[in-house]
Amino acid sequence: MSTPNNETPPVCDYEGSTYQATFWDQGGRAYEDGAERVALRRLLPPSGKLMLEVGAGAGRNTPRYKGFERVVVMDYSVTQLEQAQERLGQSEAYVYVAADVYKLPFRPGLFDAATMIRVLHHMAEPQAALHQIRQTLQPDAVFILEFANKLNLKALFRYWLGRQDWSPFELEPVEYIPLNFDFHPKAIRQWLKEEQYVVQRHLTVSHFRINVLKRLVPTRLLVWLDSLAQLTGNLWQLSPSVFVRSQAVGQEPPAANLLDADESEFFICPECRQPLAAPQEDGFTCSCGLRWGKQNGIYNFKQPL
Ligand SMILES: [Zn+2]
Repeated sequence: MSTPNNETPPVCDYEGSTYQATFWDQGGRAYEDGAERVALRRLLPPSGKLMLEVGAGAGRNTPRYKGFERVVVMDYSVTQLEQAQERLGQSEAYVYVAADVYKLPFRPGLFDAATMIRVLHHMAEPQAALHQIRQTLQPDAVFILEFANKLNLKALFRYWLGRQDWSPFELEPVEYIPLNFDFHPKAIRQWLKEEQYVVQRHLTVSHFRINVLKRLVPTRLLVWLDSLAQLTGNLWQLSPSVFVRSQAVGQEPPAANLLDADESEFFICPECRQPLAAPQEDGFTCSCGLRWGKQNGIYNFKQPL
């Protein structure tokens, strides 16, 4: 499955958003954050070379990838990446890239791992995004995907009580507000298979995402209970959030063997897909004529100069 080169699906743009502050830092999400920390620790390879973090936002999860020598911190929003820079600092371990997931600017087979956490949730064309990410991965690379699960207990009860008009059992995604989608676990597995990933493990996450519980039960206890419940993830998936670890399979695309290369060698033109070479101080000029900028340590492949 692919999308036409000059027409990509709509993207949920967090440009200028205070999402990190309002949703995570002051939003009472310590439990969800703790549950995700546990899930990532269980699923991440202990070490690696070059990780792609798709939809990194303000870099909340990025320090959790410390087993990797370098992380490409990617988001659609430049202002989110500026917040990530403030949080993580400008170091050789982090490469900040603004890009559209439907037009990734990376050489095929570049990465030995990738994650996409709380991002698929905003995708109108999820399979196209999974396809793009697969292109950037080496064979055997690990891919950790989080998705919002439409087959969760709350949705089941609401459906059975007649308080919800969509069925959690149908495989189609449900768009409950514009550009916010919940997915059926079976549909996710089917797309992963079609895009040449092999699913290895599921963890169900955030089982206790219920305000009254979060108020009454100490966060550490709730995270601990969640960490136990996560382990049933391979048996059934009825939690609002699911983490899936899969592995890239298939012969194509070949590995680029640039794991130790300078970051300037990572990129292709997102429009014509030719490799970009010889960066100038402020970005790249592609042989197709487009110019891609780099400002304040952030590569911008969202829009040409
Ligand atoms: Zn080009």
